[in-house]
Amino acid sequence: MADRFQKQRSKMVDAQLRARGIRDGRVLAAMEKIPRHLFVDEGLADQAYNDSPLPIDRQQTISQPYMVALMSEAMGLAGDERVLEIGTGSGYQTAILAELAERVFSIERIAVLANRARRILDALNYYNVAIRVGDGTLGWREEGPFAAIMVTAGSPRVPRSLIEQLTVGGRLVIPVGNRSSQSLLRLTRLSDDPDDLKREELGGCRFVDLIGEHGWDNS
Ligand code: SAH
Repeated sequence: MADRFQKQRSKMVDAQLRARGIRDGRVLAAMEKIPRHLFVDEGLADQAYNDSPLPIDRQQTISQPYMVALMSEAMGLAGDERVLEIGTGSGYQTAILAELAERVFSIERIAVLANRARRILDALNYYNVAIRVGDGTLGWREEGPFAAIMVTAGSPRVPRSLIEQLTVGGRLVIPVGNRSSQSLLRLTRLSDDPDDLKREELGGCRFVDLIGEHGWDNS
């Protein structure tokens, strides 16, 4: 997929990811490969490899490359997993997951975003991705359980429905906090008991709201 942004992409991987401690070679390779500029408006393509989030449609954002890498690494994927993503947004993180796992299920509450992401992922031949429009805080029970679940919007709490859809040993990566700042958590399910969890804090972050039954109210 060589294109006129390849150089910028390699620089992004070195300066923003490797230099800050991202070590997972599969994550680094996926981010060096995927044309991030196709997931933003054409007018923002030149900024697509900058060290920042960018606006997408409907007041949502495509996450900063470093945050995408950090969360992807935290999922601990080997390649044979079924994974769930909540908050498809631009579809960029979805494409990264499609490189790292066997099958990706992604839920987005805003239909226009889901449709646009679907078109781009189809154009890039990511046929191992299923996207559904709906409230991701409920998970996707029919397709579970999942080896890893990633939530890319900020939540007031850890939705129990998502823990219940993890395999034993499965990981949930989710920003939890108030509306202006969150702590990125990784919860690992240790047994059949959904309360038996290992909890790790991976750092501070700021995401748009997770809106839904087990997230924030729609207001
Ligand atoms: N990973 C995306 C992040 C987009 S921002 C990217 O980098 O492009 C977060 C997204 O979560 C938004 O598109 C928002 O509409 C969506 N979202 C918020 N609450 C949701 C919910 N309950 N279910 C599904 N999607 C949700």
